[in-house]
Amino acid sequence: MDLKSLIRDIPDFPKPGIVFRDITTLLRDPQGLRYTIDIFAEKCIDAGLKADYIVGMESRGFIFGTPLAYKLGVGFIPVRKPGKLPAAVHSVEYELEYGTDCLEMHQDALHPNSRVLIVDDLIATGGTASATASLIQKIGCELVGFGFIIELRDLQGRKNLPDVPIISLVEY
Ligand code: 5GP
Repeated sequence: MDLKSLIRDIPDFPKPGIVFRDITTLLRDPQGLRYTIDIFAEKCIDAGLKADYIVGMESRGFIFGTPLAYKLGVGFIPVRKPGKLPAAVHSVEYELEYGTDCLEMHQDALHPNSRVLIVDDLIATGGTASATASLIQKIGCELVGFGFIIELRDLQGRKNLPDVPIISLVEY
């Protein structure tokens, strides 16, 4: 199945000069959605990625990370923007083009020896994924890999990630 044909390009969003890769058109397509999760799980298994948990980032990482966790028979852990999680959190700050942002995860969500696969819809610069990785490594967890639906190759986000397997389904 041609997943690219189900992803919509929105020019000049969220600002002029950016082409936003819109995955809502993929999500609303029943065959496309099922195929995406099935092939994502297959690629993880083929790559030998053995995780105990999938960690997904707010908010599109939730959409793909949770059904992938279901399919792989593992748990899902949300990483959220500040102030959203109710119990005690670990936080990480990371650099944006202008300023900084912050991500949080429940302190008791992972044990030090847990094996973790990080999942998001898209990797651009790798800033979000690398911040999430540092959050997980700070706890002493084993990071087994990253999974993305979309990879924007030109931005070379891979270079900013730890040296573990990286899966992506569609490249631009
Ligand atoms: P990065 O931190 O790698 O530069 O950016 C990746 C993050 O920004 C992901 O959480 C992703 O959801 C979001 N993002 C950036 N650009 C796009 C885009 O064109 N399409 C979608 N769906 N998400 C994007």
